Amino acid sequence: PKAFKVLCVGAGSGGISAASFFADKLQDKQVGIIEPSQMHYQQPMWTLVGGGMKSFNETRARMADVIPKKATWIQNSVASIEPQNNFVVLSDGSVIKYEHLILAPGIQLDFQAIEGLSESLGKDGVCTVYSDKYVEKTWEFIKNFKKGGKAIFTMPSTPIKCPGAPQKIAYLAENWFRDLKTRETSTLSYYTGIGKIFGIDKYADSMWEVSKSRNIDVNLLHDLVSVDPISKVATFKILGSGPDAGKHVKKEYDFLHVTPKMKPVDFLKNSSVVNAAGFVDVNNGTLQHNKYDNVYAIGDCNSAPTSKTAAAACVQAYVVKNNLFNKITNNTNFSPLSYNGYTSCPLITGKDSVVLAEFSGYSGKPIETFFYNQARESKFSYWMTADVLPQVYWNMLTAGKWNGPLKIRKFLNPLNIN
Ligand code: FAD
Repeated sequence: PKAFKVLCVGAGSGGISAASFFADKLQDKQVGIIEPSQMHYQQPMWTLVGGGMKSFNETRARMADVIPKKATWIQNSVASIEPQNNFVVLSDGSVIKYEHLILAPGIQLDFQAIEGLSESLGKDGVCTVYSDKYVEKTWEFIKNFKKGGKAIFTMPSTPIKCPGAPQKIAYLAENWFRDLKTRETSTLSYYTGIGKIFGIDKYADSMWEVSKSRNIDVNLLHDLVSVDPISKVATFKILGSGPDAGKHVKKEYDFLHVTPKMKPVDFLKNSSVVNAAGFVDVNNGTLQHNKYDNVYAIGDCNSAPTSKTAAAACVQAYVVKNNLFNKITNNTNFSPLSYNGYTSCPLITGKDSVVLAEFSGYSGKPIETFFYNQARESKFSYWMTADVLPQVYWNMLTAGKWNGPLKIRKFLNPLNIN
């Protein structure tokens, strides 16, 4: 069979955004999409599903309905990649050739990396909004926390997608516990494997205030290593270089929200396209592979040093769409785009408030779209997050027509253009 002009691996937030654009612009069947899943998920909404503010149904669509009709959907997974020879191999052994490859298989949850976690999830208060299987359980356990008790929320030390979600669910739970009148008889603790409450100082300052005002006890450099569902004890390893580094501490829980450790997908791990950490080794600006010119990677799978979010993935897709389309059409008269590390994390702080972090992971500087201080808790930011962004996602992002808020920002907040 002929090589696809553009082949996308993965049709999640980043992949579908790129694939839909190319399917629209190129001839029928020139775009191939390799994606095993029957369902496409709007994962950013899962925090709100776990927090009882959205239904799970609203966050999913049949893959067949989001995959562009002009593209060829290969419902299978990639097992290995041969970038020197311009083909990938599927799990059934068949070979798919390409002229240009866009890698977007995301990052995988590593449940095995925390001892006892797989056996515990979904039972006796142990849950996670990170998985389609357990996100609804999270809400079930929150709304049934009628006796109160010890609630623990964790964030691992590995890179993860949406580094804000592990604490967002804590604030939503806290809000519900107040409504349930169990707040007084409960303690809420947040344990994170990293050394900060949030990576960017401006928003970290807000999150310290929010966590204090909600009386949530924050513990840095505590990495969850095991869960014992019988005695209901979570064990943390203390990281860093302090006097207690290396020690293990045990905490009892009645409710335990775990953010699993995450790792690169299997077929990338042993390939020649990744760096030592297992992420596809791309140029930070062009998202083009550092060795293989016709290979690009967008979203959670790549090495771009920024927070892994859908917001980042679609801006990265925009850069690749623009640069690659002009390359394919031999247009030399265009301005190449360069990705600036833009990412966004709506830090939900309760049932009607959000701290809308928008920043560059490269410079560490905020890049805010609106003209108010987005580090403040705001109802408008909540409305944007819970009502506007889901519509943008289903109507524009999956159609390849959402390139991030740059145009809106230029109009609303011209002085903050980075
Ligand atoms: P994904 O969207 O994960 O898609 C990867 C796709 O690749 C999947 O469809 C998968 O089936 C497919 N795939 C996997 N392996 C293979 C293979 N071998 N072959 C072919 N296909 C394969 N982002 C935000 O912007 N804002 C938020 O508020 C936010 N909150 C979040 C909250 C939660 C609880 C979670 C889980 C995520 C959140 N995110 C948020 C992060 C966001 O969902 C991801 O960063 C985004 O989906 C990344 O897009 P992607 O295309 O790289 O990967």
